[in-house]
Amino acid sequence: MFCVKCGKDDVKTINGLCFKCFLNDREIINMPHHIDLMKCANCEEYLINNKWVKKTKNLAIEEIALETVETISHGEIVSAETHVEKQEDKTFVVHVQANVNVSGTIVTGKDNTIVRLKNTVCKRCSRQLGNYYEAIMQIRIDENNIDNGLLEEVVKKIKASVEKQAKINRLLFISNIRMVSGGADIFLSSISLGKSLTRNLSDIYGAEIKESASLVGVVDSQETYRVTFLLRFPAHRVGDIIQFKDKFCKLIAINKNGGKIINLHNFIETSIKKLELFNAKIVVKAKDIKQAMVVSSSLGELQVVHPITYVTKDIRVPQDIKVNDTVSVVDIESELLYVP
Ligand SMILES: [Zn+2]
Ligand SMILES: [Zn+2]
Repeated sequence: MFCVKCGKDDVKTINGLCFKCFLNDREIINMPHHIDLMKCANCEEYLINNKWVKKTKNLAIEEIALETVETISHGEIVSAETHVEKQEDKTFVVHVQANVNVSGTIVTGKDNTIVRLKNTVCKRCSRQLGNYYEAIMQIRIDENNIDNGLLEEVVKKIKASVEKQAKINRLLFISNIRMVSGGADIFLSSISLGKSLTRNLSDIYGAEIKESASLVGVVDSQETYRVTFLLRFPAHRVGDIIQFKDKFCKLIAINKNGGKIINLHNFIETSIKKLELFNAKIVVKAKDIKQAMVVSSSLGELQVVHPITYVTKDIRVPQDIKVNDTVSVVDIESELLYVP
């Protein structure tokens, strides 16, 4: 090929020009005169590429400057060096030197821009500072469970989950936690966050859910709702001994459909529906299960010392258990039962 400008023959051309004529008088790289770098005065994050990110000031300045670099057509930046020079308190000159690949040849271009630091408050912080909320989770714990740490456990789970999700979506946060009698009210920044937390807790603890929405007003010609999720935590917990169909059973699992129990008379496991579980009487709370000392053992039977009367008793046990020094037992209606 030949160059249409200088007529040079037998050369590689770009748009009909030889490399030298193509580059002639053109800027290899080009930057705007100045750029504003937004910094949140509250969380101190910087807005780069439409995202709020945590960075040191210098890195943020370099990064936003590099974002604005434009190259000559057919050019692609392979590497770039930056040098930040402080001009005033909030004004910085950023010099950029970039190696640009233009149709297979590396050329170096230089330019600079002024980065001006501006303070603002990001959307999350302005919402957080204004105690913004879209959803309330009303955690209500049965009075039998209020002192056994269930409330603390649930609140801790919610906090951990929100913290994790906030790493992906920074608009998710807890705006307030209010302790009330019988539970806690948790104010959340998003309805979908409240929904997913509620569903999750209901699955783990078998909590009953009631959902209600109220119109709070019209924002930007859109109706805005707040949703309240009422979660009633059942009286029973895993480990409790319950009475179900005249049999004493240990609750061994809770799930969204109900739970699993093991019969203390024949040690057979069965499922129990949510409603049956809610209606079942708790006979012994998990924390009140006693330990009995083992005196001797034979297949399917143990001789133990009754933990209250100290009388030696024979109790039935599953045939395949490994016997330790003590076993868990409950005394119900004067009968000592082994608790698997
Ligand atoms: Zn030429
Ligand atoms: Zn912020």
